[in-house]
Amino acid sequence: MLLALILSIFAMTAIVAVRYLAVSGAFAALTTRVRPGYHDKLGPQIRREIGWSLASAAIYGAPAGLVAFGWDRFGWTMIYRDWNAYPLWYLPLSVLIYLFAHDTWFYWTHRWMHRPRLFRVAHAVHHASRPPTAWAAMSFHPIEALTGAVVVPLLVFLVPIHIAMLGVVLSVMTIMGVTNHMGWEMFPRWLVRSPVGGWIITASHHQLHHERYMCNFGLYFRFWDRLCKTDRGLSDSFER
Ligand SMILES: [Zn+2]
Ligand SMILES: [Zn+2]
Repeated sequence: MLLALILSIFAMTAIVAVRYLAVSGAFAALTTRVRPGYHDKLGPQIRREIGWSLASAAIYGAPAGLVAFGWDRFGWTMIYRDWNAYPLWYLPLSVLIYLFAHDTWFYWTHRWMHRPRLFRVAHAVHHASRPPTAWAAMSFHPIEALTGAVVVPLLVFLVPIHIAMLGVVLSVMTIMGVTNHMGWEMFPRWLVRSPVGGWIITASHHQLHHERYMCNFGLYFRFWDRLCKTDRGLSDSFER
């Protein structure tokens, strides 16, 4: 049984690492086409980003592997497979609940990690990416990685979710984590500058966090930043 648990943790770590390399690699390749020269002189930084990210993969993989093992063996968690177990309208709602809960957790732990002493220990690694690249998506000190790694493994015990919707949540998490750091905006300007864009975080918003530090702390939504008056709008470094 211990061997099965270790294998599960190992498998989850491998999945997170391969997913990171594939998605960051794809968007980094796209970046060299869309913004030629963006990665020039960032070679040493990118190698550090990849190193920290792969260490984070193991930290993300451990709780995920434990929960996956418990789900398979003992029926842990509120993850369900039957499409009719809950009303259909609950499918998109569950995705929103997960994203909002993750965003809330991230906003407050992120602000907390910007306190000077903790910043130096736990969060300076992430801000060593100047400017960030697609490889910085999981470039976190192990303490910061741990704060992120527990969110979804805890939520699956509290909020029911269909396995496919969990896949949607993890895909949004991965793709936005990468694209918010890649150094250019993939969404059309009219959308980013629209009222809807006023509530959603894309690269233009998170880039400003990497430029100015003490603002734009959110992950997916601008809700907490706007409520707590830490929203400073969008970076203008992308305007071409
Ligand atoms: Zn960042
Ligand atoms: Zn920060």
